[in-house]
Amino acid sequence: MKNLPVKHLFELPQGVIYLDGNSLGPLPKSVAPRISQMISQEWGEQLIRGWNYAGWMEQPLRVGNRIAALIGAAEGSVVVGDTLSIKVFQALSAALEMRPDRKVVLSDSGNFPTDLYMARGLLDTLDKGHELRIVAPGEVAANIDESIAAVMLTEVDYRTGRKHDMDAITRIAHAKGAVVIWDLAHSAGAVPVDLARSNCEFAVGCTYKYLNGGPGAPAFVYVRPDIMAQVRPVLSGWLGHDAPFAFELDYRPAPGIERMRVGTPPVIQMTALEEALKIWDGVDMQALRQRSMDLSDLFIARVEAQCPQLTLASPRNAQERGSQVSFAFENGYAVVQALVDHGVIGDFRAPNIMRFGFTPLYIDKEDVERASDILQEILDKRLWDKPTYRQTNRVT
Ligand SMILES: *Cc1c(COP(=O)(O)O)cnc(C)c1O
Repeated sequence: MKNLPVKHLFELPQGVIYLDGNSLGPLPKSVAPRISQMISQEWGEQLIRGWNYAGWMEQPLRVGNRIAALIGAAEGSVVVGDTLSIKVFQALSAALEMRPDRKVVLSDSGNFPTDLYMARGLLDTLDKGHELRIVAPGEVAANIDESIAAVMLTEVDYRTGRKHDMDAITRIAHAKGAVVIWDLAHSAGAVPVDLARSNCEFAVGCTYKYLNGGPGAPAFVYVRPDIMAQVRPVLSGWLGHDAPFAFELDYRPAPGIERMRVGTPPVIQMTALEEALKIWDGVDMQALRQRSMDLSDLFIARVEAQCPQLTLASPRNAQERGSQVSFAFENGYAVVQALVDHGVIGDFRAPNIMRFGFTPLYIDKEDVERASDILQEILDKRLWDKPTYRQTNRVT
């Protein structure tokens, strides 16, 4: 087993404490040389032969298997491709086809908006009288009844870090006959996940957050192996076909998870992700989780003692959080800008949430202590109170 942290495996700029790996993971040192080699030796020399000889065609499944190992899924049940928004659409469409007599999709107000937008777009397109029912996160279990076709939730809330009890909700949903889709965007690489134990039908997630695949890295989708043959991929592109190079006029899905592939994968991006995932070899997810809870507990204790102006917006109990901590403050946006200028990178989520991710692969106790000291200084001296820190950028 690897001893954490493994800071030396990442390119982290000098003087920066990076508390935003929950939004975009940093660059693993081995990625740039691997990409450079891939471009010159695979693309440059092998040209189209790379699909066969460099293994580009199998890559979405090969990379899926690496992710499967991190989320408690069987080999051959996860495939990588497209964006998470697309994978949400695919999983939800397939789920609704499994319950044609039911018309309600249940989600919560803590879900990331694109999941809800994609659901709404799908339901409008289907035009079969479906309803998207959005309840408060704490009300999900009580709202699961026999009218629900699919329960679609993100395990860890992107704003507050609040974590759902995946096993319990899945069990309740199954008892009422609903299909369950979990979005693991803030879970994969952050908390231990056991998809096989949870028994959910579908899961999706992205790879540029805790999995460090880089900006634009493709998403993943999981289908429970025993329902694979029933699942219609919906976005029936040629690379999800059983025999893409037979060029048949009719679509026949591949027998396994490759049916969830759509079109040509982004090989360069996939290669960056595949290389980045090697960091997880030998990482004990339980040990990682313990470190994440220790680091975030330490941050909360220090910030509450040093910065009484801020209000904790995350659950206090570490077991009920993912790997991030959020504080509410009315000038949160300006404070986050000032923090960035002082070497502490976190981010801001409207209306007033300052968000800090604790990624134990490369964050340690000294980082947490220094970050809370800098935060205190910015608040005590009102260093955030400058017009330039109030100007909102396009990406917050
Ligand atoms: C980050 C995130 C997304 C992003 O979707 P993309 O299509 O990859 O841009 C979607 N859903 C959740 C829950 C997220 O946290």
